[in-house]
Amino acid sequence: MSTHPHRRIAGRLIIATHNAGKLREMHDLLAPYGIDAVAAGALGLPEPEETGTSFRDNARIKAVSAAAAAGLAAFADDSGLAVDALGGEPGIHSARWAGPDRDFAHAMAEVQRRLEASGARSPGQRKAHFVSALCVAWPDGHLEEFEGRVDGVLVFPPRGEKGFGYDPIFLPDGFDRTFGEMTGEEKHGLPPLGRGLSHRARAFLKLAEACLERR
Ligand code: IMP
Repeated sequence: MSTHPHRRIAGRLIIATHNAGKLREMHDLLAPYGIDAVAAGALGLPEPEETGTSFRDNARIKAVSAAAAAGLAAFADDSGLAVDALGGEPGIHSARWAGPDRDFAHAMAEVQRRLEASGARSPGQRKAHFVSALCVAWPDGHLEEFEGRVDGVLVFPPRGEKGFGYDPIFLPDGFDRTFGEMTGEEKHGLPPLGRGLSHRARAFLKLAEACLERR
């Protein structure tokens, strides 16, 4: 019997996301490990309904659904922005706040509107964090799950054209540029070259430590 409590990821891996921004980041993160990553959309896999009540539940729903449909290991992220003054909202509803047209200018304006309505004006009252829950599911039911977060404050108006989603309003603690102003390498580059800053990079580092071997 293996003494290693985690299962290694090798060969082909489905990336169970239909979000282009996340897909790009997940490809970047997997690149040094020689994994043959294929997007769920490219295989025509359906998007399951995210009926969970936590990031972890929803990551598991997506990974398990793709693994079952494809008969291969599948990797999913569920993530979002939790704003302290809004009781953790939009949280698991982060994508939903952008509406069916995925309009994040609208979603960011909604965050600003609600912060103003709640009287949260100073940086200290505008604390937020991004969370990423990662799940790898195998067709036999085995799961590997990891979580990461990054803390910061929200700034308005939005700054920067890079990244996706709420990146232009998120200023990570200790930096003077938003995620929207950072290159992908700065936002989610892994050590030794990068600093593993983003929530997804932080969760991924845990996953890599447990389940991947660097080429
Ligand atoms: P999900 O696909 O249900 O996990 O939705 C996650 C949503 O959270 C995305 O559509 C984005 O709006 C937001 N989000 C997650 N990660 C990031 C990030 O790294 N930058 C900006 N927004 C993010």
